[in-house]
Amino acid sequence: MMRVAIVGGGPAGATAAEKAARAGLRVTVFEERCGWEKPCGGGLTYKALARYPFLGDSAQPHAAPRRVEFASGRGEEARFRLARPLLIYSRAVLNALLLRRALAAGAELVETRVLDFRREGSAWRIESKAGRYDADFLVLAAGARSRLRGIVAPSFAARDFMLTFGHYVPLHESLRARGRDRVVRVQFFEDFEGYAWAFPRPDHLSVGICAKAGESPMPELRRRLENFALRSGYWRPAAPASERGPVFSHVLAALGVGRWKDARLAGRGWALVGDAAGLADPVTGEGIYFAMRSGELLAEALLAGAPHRYPELIRLDFGGQLALGARLAERFYHGQFLGEFATTRLVQLAARSPSFVRLLDNLIEGSQSYGGLRARVGATFARAAVEIGARWARRACRTWLFRRAPSSRSGESRGTPLAREDGGQPASIT
Ligand SMILES: Cc1cc2nc3c(=O)[nH]c(=O)nc-3n(C[C@H](O)[C@H](O)[C@H](O)COP(=O)(O)OP(=O)(O)OC[C@H]3O[C@@H](n4cnc5c(N)ncnc54)[C@H](O)[C@@H]3O)c2cc1C
Repeated sequence: MMRVAIVGGGPAGATAAEKAARAGLRVTVFEERCGWEKPCGGGLTYKALARYPFLGDSAQPHAAPRRVEFASGRGEEARFRLARPLLIYSRAVLNALLLRRALAAGAELVETRVLDFRREGSAWRIESKAGRYDADFLVLAAGARSRLRGIVAPSFAARDFMLTFGHYVPLHESLRARGRDRVVRVQFFEDFEGYAWAFPRPDHLSVGICAKAGESPMPELRRRLENFALRSGYWRPAAPASERGPVFSHVLAALGVGRWKDARLAGRGWALVGDAAGLADPVTGEGIYFAMRSGELLAEALLAGAPHRYPELIRLDFGGQLALGARLAERFYHGQFLGEFATTRLVQLAARSPSFVRLLDNLIEGSQSYGGLRARVGATFARAAVEIGARWARRACRTWLFRRAPSSRSGESRGTPLAREDGGQPASIT
């Protein structure tokens, strides 16, 4: 029976292990930090839930917010409600859940650090802190910054990463009282490839910022995050440091356009999955779903006796989408749309047009792919123009009928949200 060694027991490694072990392969997972809180937002979109329904059924603690706030670099805001909630897990909880499933399926777990591996004849010799192991097939699932990748494939360049920095902010009463434990907030900045986020979890929030490596030095990221956390009310100005919560920092895979053409995902007797392969969305940084799915596709290829087909399975399933994302990221964060930064326009349109909010909702849940986005934006923009015109006309009528003072419009020009979650239909406008 084929012996499969999986280095890394995160979402990619654990999912590959579960699928391969369930089908009868002899699987060993090497994980050096079982139960760690891997720096992450922990957000899972609907496409993950649709493919892996156990994530939603799980009795393990997780948050399921529907309310979203987007803020532009100018302080304008759009608030809307998702048709389907995001699932947000602490990564210690999620990783433990996925590893338990792998063990229940028959995989073996060795809690140790893999130091090295090399080919010996037709097998792999794996050196770990716990000793030597042999395997027929080696899966590297050791995350974005593992130096082990260099043994089988070219190392990533700095520009293939986003830097992240953040805090796990304890959910104190004043945050709950203001409903911050039920809202996902995203802050864009003008001409900056990255964003700040606040993701609520059951007992704390992941509040962080990411930026393309080389875009901003770390002190600049800290400053932007501090402004975001204070202005959005996650931190109180004079609160003690403990209220800001423990710090995290890590890298996020965000491959550039050229990288996708020559990405090496597999070779003789080995494969890369998840972040170790760079399989994350270059626009949003979403990686958990792609890690799990790549693990699953690799297991399918192994079980079919055709591991060489794995790169093709990735390309057909979601690789094309991520490659398009690499192109889009540049335009999204640096490009202009109708004379404004694209991210600023996005927030302005979302604040004024239900059709545009539906488009965003579909993008977030994964039912709108990057291919076909251009056509959808064009069609949506036409509808948005009609909606904004009708709204303007209604306001003008009301102003004329009730002789309202023009000061009532000043909020709109500063971007006061017109799209609000109202507990009714998704993304409805009140
Ligand atoms: C700050 C931040 C926020 C993010 N937010 C989100 C989000 O909200 N939603 C989302 O979908 N994605 C998010 N991501 C991306 C997501 O975290 C990754 O895409 C995902 O964790 C990739 O899973 P993986 O299994 O490939 O790697 P990892 O989760 O990194 O797992 C790799 C595992 O390998 C182990 N390992 C490494 N080296 C060795 C070794 N030598 N020996 C033994 N074990 C080893 C590690 O301990 C680790 O457990 C975020 C990333 C960052 C940095």
